[in-house]
Amino acid sequence: MRDTLVLNASFEPLSTVTLNRAVVLVLQDKAVVEQSHPELRVRGASVDLPMPRVIRLCRYVRVPFRRHAVWSRRGVLVRDQHRCAYCGKRATTVDHVVPKSHGGGDTWLNTVASCAEDNHRKADRTPDEAGMPLLRQPFVPSATDAMLFGLGASQREALPDWLAPSPGPVRAA
Ligand SMILES: [Zn+2]
Repeated sequence: MRDTLVLNASFEPLSTVTLNRAVVLVLQDKAVVEQSHPELRVRGASVDLPMPRVIRLCRYVRVPFRRHAVWSRRGVLVRDQHRCAYCGKRATTVDHVVPKSHGGGDTWLNTVASCAEDNHRKADRTPDEAGMPLLRQPFVPSATDAMLFGLGASQREALPDWLAPSPGPVRAA
């Protein structure tokens, strides 16, 4: 499934939608295509347009202010690029830095990507207790970062520079 990035009229990234939804928005004149796949077209009975990669809404949509991305396990893995916080190998699980049994919560700053082995080895202990220092500190991604992280890497590379997610930790405003 190819998802299309939706920009607000102000060029601010808003969300991603399915290709079908993106085409409908364009056909209804609710959005314009800002960037399309170079060789792909959407063809139908009464449709023939470049396959949209990025669309922009014609009217500005006021969105509730969200300072930060909503926490999710998948979000943590994407934020940490599927690298284990303890050994740097491929991570498939999410570890609570301060274990839940010690009162640690499901928050961006208390969770890191971890390989299954290290997650199991660390068990119900803090990094100090387990003698397993974090290779890097967890951070809170912005809402925009989280949304862009959700796109596939190849799609992300194809986006214009001004849409590239910021690489480093985001300062909490
Ligand atoms: Zn590991």
